[in-house]
Amino acid sequence: MLNIVLFGPPGAGKGTQSEKLIAKYHLVHLSTGDIFRANIKGETELGKLAQSFMNEGKLVPDEVTINMLASELDKSPDAKGFIFDGFPRTQAQAAALDNLLQSKNTAITSMLALEVEEEELKKRLLLRGKESGRVDDQNPEIIQNRIDEYNNKTMPVKDFYAAQNKYRGINGLGEIEEIFALLCNEIALSTK
Ligand code: ADP
Repeated sequence: MLNIVLFGPPGAGKGTQSEKLIAKYHLVHLSTGDIFRANIKGETELGKLAQSFMNEGKLVPDEVTINMLASELDKSPDAKGFIFDGFPRTQAQAAALDNLLQSKNTAITSMLALEVEEEELKKRLLLRGKESGRVDDQNPEIIQNRIDEYNNKTMPVKDFYAAQNKYRGINGLGEIEEIFALLCNEIALSTK
């Protein structure tokens, strides 16, 4: 199986690149942000729980997120592989994911990390807020909270995969196609 963690701060381009990667490699796309948003829209219990955290730019608690991810994995028993987008965002989530995959006799192939500087992220997120109407993209304070959560809680996930020699940094500035080519190149190297 090809199991990719697509990593990077909010606004780094994970969603855009995920679309292209799933089309090319026929992977199942698991975006925790998208799944939470769908639950909010459907007014499910999970949605109600996640909403308060998301609207403030805070991470949804690990237990909630991990349970949700586990049940999403179970929905695709025949997948050729997965692309994890926006997950894991904490070291606890990363450890849980390793265990889940191990129980299915598979593992993460590599973590591809899109690297983009903070000023550029803020610009992109505010623009997306105008275009998409996403609440958490419209307010500079909430954006700052998300970047702070990323720096404090999510950055350490990099060390988790680096320790397994699975971390690959990718320059996230440039043309979409250019960045996609860099990602594909890393995938080719990590599956050789
Ligand atoms: P972005 O990468 O642009 O911040 P996402 O759509 O991935 O956006 O996530 C939006 C929000 O959903 C996050 O700010 C957070 O509140 C919640 N969320 C998504 N994934 C996770 C996760 N793995 N753990 C905790 N919270 C999450």
